[in-house]
Amino acid sequence: MELISIIVPCYNEQEVLPLFYNEITKTMNKMKANNPQLEFELLFVNDGSKDSTLEKLRELAKESSNVRYISFSRNFGKEAGMFAGLQNARGDYVVIMDADLQHPPKFIPEMYDYVKNQGYDCAATRRITRAGESKIRSWFARKFYKIMNKISHTEIVDGAQDFRFMTRQMVNAILEMNEYNRFSKGIFSWVGFNTKYIEYENVERAAGTTAWSFKNLFFYSLEGIFAFSTAPLALASLLGILSCLVAFIIIVVIIIKTLAFGENVQGYPTIVCAIFFVGGLQLFCIGILGQYLSKTYLETKKRPIYIIKETEENLKK
Ligand code: UDP
Ligand code: MG
Repeated sequence: MELISIIVPCYNEQEVLPLFYNEITKTMNKMKANNPQLEFELLFVNDGSKDSTLEKLRELAKESSNVRYISFSRNFGKEAGMFAGLQNARGDYVVIMDADLQHPPKFIPEMYDYVKNQGYDCAATRRITRAGESKIRSWFARKFYKIMNKISHTEIVDGAQDFRFMTRQMVNAILEMNEYNRFSKGIFSWVGFNTKYIEYENVERAAGTTAWSFKNLFFYSLEGIFAFSTAPLALASLLGILSCLVAFIIIVVIIIKTLAFGENVQGYPTIVCAIFFVGGLQLFCIGILGQYLSKTYLETKKRPIYIIKETEENLKK
């Protein structure tokens, strides 16, 4: 027997859950028909939804024995949801996918084949179009991947999704990375292993609305940079050296002007400019230091990444 765990983080997904459940059930039945040794568990993670997602999950778990769920005490974010899912999944293989059908279940049989028969440890999806997304958003996304891959040793594949199929071995490696500031796109890549990317065109949400505003995405991308690169720290030193160089050149010019041409030194504007320039640089660099310090601060607290309030076990009591 082979067990495949399907992890689905859910935040306010009451509208789309029944649709998702229908689709995924079809896929699971088809796969079981073709591979009789397969078994499935559906592990939903309710990330502190404010709508009736939890009630829907309770119903599903009562109806079918292969549905499990974990419900958080509040909204901890999708990263925490995925981590909780990985920690609690029992499968020999693990799939992570969104509830909104933007990650089409039809890819799962193909992913299984890559991992099972073609020697890959992981099969992931990469969207090659960003249809249905605003131009500015796509532009920022592309720039983010460019910058990220320049300054970090961890390769972040443009358009790669959290939708992936992994072996138990890879999941265990990911679980060893129990950092508080989680950036999964980086973590998946950092642990290594052979990953096959399946390309597909972006699909729009089946129902409901996205929980990610532009602002959220922007800060999430900064999170990624600070979690997987120390280049900004080097930038601070570089700017320091550059401003010293500029200052040195100005000093030499002033000395020559005064000694060789007997010019009066014009003090006031030069000093004001220099003060603003150096002051700005210093604040900028302290800001970068602060970012790393704040991340370190949160890591050292060793807070739990999520808190469970209820699981399907509670239904049995
Ligand atoms: N999600 C979550 N916690 C959050 C936000 C989102 O578990 O705080 C889930 C959400 O239910 C969905 C997936 O993460 O299954 C992706 O979210 P969404 O579709 O809103 O993001 P997008 O597809 O626009 O990137
Ligand atoms: Mg979505």
